[in-house]
Amino acid sequence: MSIFTKIINGEIPCYKVAEDDEFIAFFDINPNAKGHTLCVPKQEISYIFDMDDDHYLRLMAFSKRVAKALEKVVPCERIGVAVVGLEVPHVHVHLIPISEMKEMTFQHKVKLTDEEFKALAQKVREAF
Ligand code: 5GP
Repeated sequence: MSIFTKIINGEIPCYKVAEDDEFIAFFDINPNAKGHTLCVPKQEISYIFDMDDDHYLRLMAFSKRVAKALEKVVPCERIGVAVVGLEVPHVHVHLIPISEMKEMTFQHKVKLTDEEFKALAQKVREAF
């Protein structure tokens, strides 16, 4: 079982920002930038390009909705998108509010306190 399935099942906490029947979005625990969010299908699939077309397109539509909510709440030039999956083999779309290219590199990290994560998650949930 992946760590993200444990989050989906409520066994591990997360800062949730959006959810529907098929997908969940929560903040990355080690963010490249403030508001760095992961959009995850509830079905545990390892590799994004193994998803069937309709499921993949719904994930992208969900990610777009989350990105639009992030845009409203997090000051940034735009929302960068990345799919990696080398650390967690459960499909996830990284949405990263960026103003500089270095924020798309996974060596660039920022720290948020528990209170900051919670307050930002609340704002994004309201904007979703
Ligand atoms: P990737 O698999 O795309 O290379 O990276 C996985 C991402 O998931 C990383 O950015 C990492 O910080 C994040 N991550 C790993 N474990 C957890 C976790 O338990 N909770 C949350 N919210 N994010 C996690």
